[in-house]
Amino acid sequence: MSGPSGAGKSTVVEGLAAYVPFHFSVSMTTRPARPGEVEGVDYRFVDRERFQQAIAAGELIEWADYGGNLYGTPVAEVTGPRRQGRDVLLDIEMAGARNVKRLFPDAIMIFIVPPDLDALEARLRRRGDTSEADIARRLAIARDQISEAATLFEHHVVNDDLDAAVRQVAGILGAVPNPPVIPS
Ligand code: 5GP
Repeated sequence: MSGPSGAGKSTVVEGLAAYVPFHFSVSMTTRPARPGEVEGVDYRFVDRERFQQAIAAGELIEWADYGGNLYGTPVAEVTGPRRQGRDVLLDIEMAGARNVKRLFPDAIMIFIVPPDLDALEARLRRRGDTSEADIARRLAIARDQISEAATLFEHHVVNDDLDAAVRQVAGILGAVPNPPVIPS
């Protein structure tokens, strides 16, 4: 699962647990913990030296630099649960997602999109001082950015209404027979 920051991925992951069983892959990161984050639950928080060791020791399936911090998926978070027949869910940025798809071609790729485009369009129209052509151009740029990033993902879910988004993801994973259709 991937998506631009602010799309609400972690909230969707939390909600999803009520619908489908899965193992959440706890990444290793050099980012400091945010208030409320729990070591070993949200991330394994390590320093750069430990992270570099993990890379050298082949402990990570993939890793990426995001906003100046390192993030990586420990091999054990994926292979262990998979050996036990459990599905594994990764919350991962774009480069990592691309690597995971290469390594696990049967991975289900879900892109969570924030409802920002609709909000942007509404805001531009409300202002009333922007020409239709200008609105169209701005929206096209925003849409391009999202779709360029999203070509890798076979499923796009707009996180407009959280419960609907969670149900849609659950539907993609086969847990809910008739997920609501969310316009994108
Ligand atoms: P945050 O700091 O907001 O928790 O995460 C920043 C970004 O890093 C998010 O896009 C998240 O999906 C991504 N991320 C989290 N863990 C991993 C990982 O193990 N590998 C990669 N490549 N990205 C990760």
